[in-house]
Amino acid sequence: MPLSRFGRRHERTFGKEKEEWDGDFRKPPKPDSYYTKIKGMCRWCGKMIIKEDGTINERKSWHEDCATEYMIIYHSREQRAHLRKRDRGKCNHCGVITRRWDCDHIRPLVEQKGVKAKDLDWSYYKLENLQTLCKPCHRKKTNSEVHLKKKRKLNFKGTKQWQ
Ligand SMILES: [Zn+2]
Ligand SMILES: [Zn+2]
Repeated sequence: MPLSRFGRRHERTFGKEKEEWDGDFRKPPKPDSYYTKIKGMCRWCGKMIIKEDGTINERKSWHEDCATEYMIIYHSREQRAHLRKRDRGKCNHCGVITRRWDCDHIRPLVEQKGVKAKDLDWSYYKLENLQTLCKPCHRKKTNSEVHLKKKRKLNFKGTKQWQ
């Protein structure tokens, strides 16, 4: 989506009161700057948007990269579009090129479950942590993760007993 259209769509949310985070690790809380209305300040990173001549660009409220980062987290269709552009439907595991692919978090987002807002690891939510997987590979990965989780749970219980 072009940044101009993106900006317009987001004007409604500008200066809105900050919502309480519901703790959903799939949708991390937006930063304070998202709700702060200062001309020329990026709503995502909170830094000023500087023009080539070194002055502040008061007409903008997003850095282009920041808008991308934002959309990859909060808009699954945009997330898919960015991944399609990068991987072109090629499974990152077996190399097959397919139109039926899934968007997978390399390090699973569930690892951020229960983490406090200030301790969230934002690298989990970036494009670098996303990969294209064909359906069979995705299924295999998900199954192995469930398996791991169970194992971890058992280990945890095990340690607890010893404490
Ligand atoms: Zn920014
Ligand atoms: Zn595959």
